[in-house]
Amino acid sequence: MTILISTSPEQTRQIGYYLGQLLDAGDVICLDGDLGAGKTTFSAGVGEGWGTEHPLTSPTFVIVQQYDRALDRQVLYHLDAYRLDAEGDAESVGLLDIFDANGAVLIEWPEKIRSWLPDDHLWIHFTIDDNDDSRRMLTLQAAGNRSLMLLDALKAKFGD
Ligand code: ADP
Ligand code: MG
Repeated sequence: MTILISTSPEQTRQIGYYLGQLLDAGDVICLDGDLGAGKTTFSAGVGEGWGTEHPLTSPTFVIVQQYDRALDRQVLYHLDAYRLDAEGDAESVGLLDIFDANGAVLIEWPEKIRSWLPDDHLWIHFTIDDNDDSRRMLTLQAAGNRSLMLLDALKAKFGD
């Protein structure tokens, strides 16, 4: 487990940007934490670093948003599982297809689909600092070799 501190939205975005540059097809990144904790800010940075053709926005009104990259025809999925109440819903939005589709996957509200997650995923929990509006704590946990590699890279770059 690794903890990174962000003191501004821009810094959260930069951490996301760096991760985005490292992402490969098949990587799964789970982002959880309260509303306003910074998950979408982070995701926007990931999209930028990964190189989406269109800026990544909050997917709240669609459950899955697909982003493309012309360069190598890779795909990035941004999933918001917030409104998936029963895990059965996961089937109806084609979750398994997404995990099989050979793209990178970013998931907000991943706890809603916990049992569907591939074994190897990086989990990032965002915590708001009650005493400082612009401070966030990012707690990173890796659940496999690939996610551990990503975690180590983030730690080397942004850890103290
Ligand atoms: P979520 O997707 O988790 O609901 P958002 O990224 O949409 O959160 O919103 C985070 C809000 O918190 C934004 O209004 C952002 O400007 C603000 N904020 C303040 N400090 C930070 C920080 N260090 N990192 C990320 N967001 C921050
Ligand atoms: Mg959000």
